[in-house]
Amino acid sequence: MPETIYDVAIIGSGPAGYTAAIRAGQLGLKTALIEKDDVLGGTCLHVGCIPTKALLFNAEVYDHVKEGPELGLENTAGVTLNWGAIQKRKQGIVDKHTKGLSFLMRKNKVDVVRGYGKLTGPASGGIHTVALDGSDPPSIQAKNVILCSGSVARMLPGMQPDDQILTNIEILSLNAIPKSLIVIGSGAVGVEFASIYKSFGADVTILEMLPRYVPVEDEEVSKELARVYRKRGINGFVNAQVEKVEKTTNGVGVTFTVDGKQQKIEAEKVLVAVGRAPRTENVGIEKTKIEVERGFVKVDGFMRTAEPGIYAIGDIVAGYPQLAHSGAMEGIVAVTHIAGKPVKKINPLRIPNATYCHPEIGSVGLSEAKAKERGFEVKIGKFPFTANSRASIVGQHDGFIKIVSEAKFGEILGVHIIGPNATELIAESVVALEMECTAEELANIIHAHPTLSEAMLDAANAVFGMAINA
Ligand SMILES: Cc1cc2nc3c(=O)[nH]c(=O)nc-3n(C[C@H](O)[C@H](O)[C@H](O)COP(=O)(O)OP(=O)(O)OC[C@H]3O[C@@H](n4cnc5c(N)ncnc54)[C@H](O)[C@@H]3O)c2cc1C
Repeated sequence: MPETIYDVAIIGSGPAGYTAAIRAGQLGLKTALIEKDDVLGGTCLHVGCIPTKALLFNAEVYDHVKEGPELGLENTAGVTLNWGAIQKRKQGIVDKHTKGLSFLMRKNKVDVVRGYGKLTGPASGGIHTVALDGSDPPSIQAKNVILCSGSVARMLPGMQPDDQILTNIEILSLNAIPKSLIVIGSGAVGVEFASIYKSFGADVTILEMLPRYVPVEDEEVSKELARVYRKRGINGFVNAQVEKVEKTTNGVGVTFTVDGKQQKIEAEKVLVAVGRAPRTENVGIEKTKIEVERGFVKVDGFMRTAEPGIYAIGDIVAGYPQLAHSGAMEGIVAVTHIAGKPVKKINPLRIPNATYCHPEIGSVGLSEAKAKERGFEVKIGKFPFTANSRASIVGQHDGFIKIVSEAKFGEILGVHIIGPNATELIAESVVALEMECTAEELANIIHAHPTLSEAMLDAANAVFGMAINA
């Protein structure tokens, strides 16, 4: 039997890899998806996006029940959490979607290959060989290769995760809800877990090295999150330089310095959420011309690396955010280019950020500060959820929508939402930016009543000082 020569071999089955595989199949490319683990789906499905959002949903429901009498619910004071059932529900959701991925691979005629894939060097006669450690056959051949090996949680120097010092992996399957938790890092992962475990009753403290929470967001969003977290009883320190993490008789002690003053706090568990390192070692990159910058792979607008025929997508790529939906679209761009079809390059400024803490955060485009840094004269429209009728109905008044528009022609440069359903509401803004919509055009688009999305209409009107509801 002649050996199969694939049109494309994809190394890694996270959202970047599986999306690329499905689209490649749809485009009629002979495709192999190589995965080292027993299940498809990567970080996002097994220890990232999906299980965290499942827990956040439980946390939200529990928060509503705690508001019992206000919502007219009686006898809620004795409601307790069944942690086993919460974990089972979370795993059920993950399992369902894992099965769904296997189905989608079959449907799109993608060959799933179990094994650890490694690049072996440049193509020979236009054909690449991908070595497969511990697998039979020991290698496969393909005209194109897409590397999407994903990322791992960064640890503080000299530390290893265990049952007290946790990363996103261990914290998702704890035996019990900890009484107290210190979260090191206030990016999306840190503030989401802080939100979850605070709702579940833990005493939570966040330590952030930079001057504000969620540092990639607009400054006013960070300020509002800090205000609401204080109100929720989530403790926090910014400008906090962690110096030592050590085991104590009761848990873990963290020594840190703020403004030159050293402090020590203790908790049952510590979550280290200080970012994610690209998994670009031990995948054969050194045998190729692929260029790497601080561990991240450099690519062009079609996701091509410097090695002909080898593409890179997802969390390993330089210049794009480490987000599932970004990786998925990068996958579509790469395989569409491989198939020789027209491709629209990704504009990183049109990739939404979504953080699912309470209150949620959704943003796209330039923050006010970034727009000014780039020399734009800006006009801001801001509308608080306190003045939105649907926010009253759902009992969530914290937050606002902020539109950053260019002063002369009114083009919307960025939208920043903190508040109820912000991660859903942001979709409209992504379309608006993609269509180069102006604040005036948005202000003339009819939004249904009563909806949270009406706050977007009011924010657009607020650019001209003419919000209807405030
Ligand atoms: C707690 C948490 C919550 C998150 N929540 C969100 C969210 O809500 N929304 C969002 O957009 N993003 C979220 N993210 C980020 C998101 O999970 C990542 O951006 C996404 O998973 C990256 O996809 P990827 O395909 O590049 O890599 P990964 O998902 O990491 O997948 C890489 C895959 O490659 C496999 N692999 C690695 N090396 C090899 C090899 N040599 N051979 C074969 N297989 C290999 C791995 O086993 C893995 O299956 C979250 C992350 C975390 C940690």
